[in-house]
Amino acid sequence: MGLVVQKYGGSSVADAEGIKRVAKRIVDAKKNGNQVVVVVSAMGDTTDELIDLAEQVSPIPAGREFDMLLTAGERISMALLAMAIKNLGHEAQSFTGSQAGVITDSVHNKARIIDVTPGRIRTALDEGNIAIVAGFQGVSQDKKDITTLGRGGSDTTAVALAAALDAEVCEIYTDVDGVFTADPRVVKKAKKIDWISFEDMLELAASGSKVLLHRCVEYARRYNIPIHVRSSFSGLRGTWVSNEPQGDQKVEHAIISGVAHDVSEAKITVVGVPDKPGEAAAIFRTIANAEVNIDMVVQNVSAAATGLTDISFTLPKAEGRKAIDALERNRATIGFESLRYDDQIAKISLVGAGMKTNPGVTAGFFEALSDAGVNIELISTSEIRISVVTRADDVNEAVRAVHTAFGLDSDSDEAVVYGGTGR
Ligand code: ADP
Ligand code: ASP
Ligand code: MG
Repeated sequence: MGLVVQKYGGSSVADAEGIKRVAKRIVDAKKNGNQVVVVVSAMGDTTDELIDLAEQVSPIPAGREFDMLLTAGERISMALLAMAIKNLGHEAQSFTGSQAGVITDSVHNKARIIDVTPGRIRTALDEGNIAIVAGFQGVSQDKKDITTLGRGGSDTTAVALAAALDAEVCEIYTDVDGVFTADPRVVKKAKKIDWISFEDMLELAASGSKVLLHRCVEYARRYNIPIHVRSSFSGLRGTWVSNEPQGDQKVEHAIISGVAHDVSEAKITVVGVPDKPGEAAAIFRTIANAEVNIDMVVQNVSAAATGLTDISFTLPKAEGRKAIDALERNRATIGFESLRYDDQIAKISLVGAGMKTNPGVTAGFFEALSDAGVNIELISTSEIRISVVTRADDVNEAVRAVHTAFGLDSDSDEAVVYGGTGR
């Protein structure tokens, strides 16, 4: 008998009908002779609504209580799903992250999983149950506090459980038919990818393709767990993400795997920084001490007359306030003139391992953006990715232009979005 882990995202369980539909799918997997572990997200936009509520009572909600609040979303959906399954005549038990043995560090709001001890899940399976686990949450090893894994973290819960239970596959059910060459909400002519390597998927995820969370792909690669991303609304086969293609998984020998975009970042410019050794170190140590992750960094050439330079960097919007406060507190010791904060930016990235060996990709990318009249503010590259920062208003047009320029458009409009609000 095989063991499968299935994860259902918020849009798949947005309402009672959705929960009943998903329950049927789960029961079918069980009837096919599998042991089934299900990881479930909060219903629809529940997490966003809980965040809005928290912000109304406190502008910067405290980490511990904020996590306690957010984990409530997944507890609602896990219990309802277990009830719906029982109603179909099958046994199911729901478990919080803590009960399922998801042990994390103690960094609230973006905890890392450090161990998974799924003893209770094993017992539940051995007794013939379907096990339903609340995604996105765990318990900290040292303080035994409830933690959350960061937005989209149910993907990581699913892969971590699949690894700990030695599952054959981790199925990620969502509101699109798989991983596409661009976000189907933006590019109607995006193509579904049949198979993609962990390497390319990692870059797409890190660049904002939120269909899979970056940490989840990292985890899957480390433990070599194949992921099958597919829709909970259709019966279609989706996208396989793994080290090597298996069986009939088709490999596109394209130079480019896809175009990703991200509107969740902001840009901070530190203006009037003395152009001398140690300044960048002081700025980024301050940011690191505030536990803020940064993405791109650029430093301008110093104006010779003043000996001052500007340093810009991007970071998640959600951490903008923390970073600004930390820099302001240390303004005298770092010695800069002022700070500028800009949250109307977007990042657009082109990803593909074929880039390493094909000249002209960067040129083609910049030409496509220029033809679309899009101005570039920052640039960063890796071996298999080029990213630029542009105005947020330009993002959709820029993504479509790049997608077309690299020949990624499909002949049919196969990119269907079944649900979700895109929030
Ligand atoms: P879930 O609630 O199931 O976790 P998410 O909203 O986190 O779903 O992820 C699915 C969404 O990811 C899709 O609705 C789509 O808009 C978006 N997305 C972004 N880039 C891609 C891509 N390259 N392929 C497929 N979906 C993508
Ligand atoms: N409910 C959480 C979120 O919206 C986790 C998840 O859905 O993966 O981010
Ligand atoms: Mg998600």
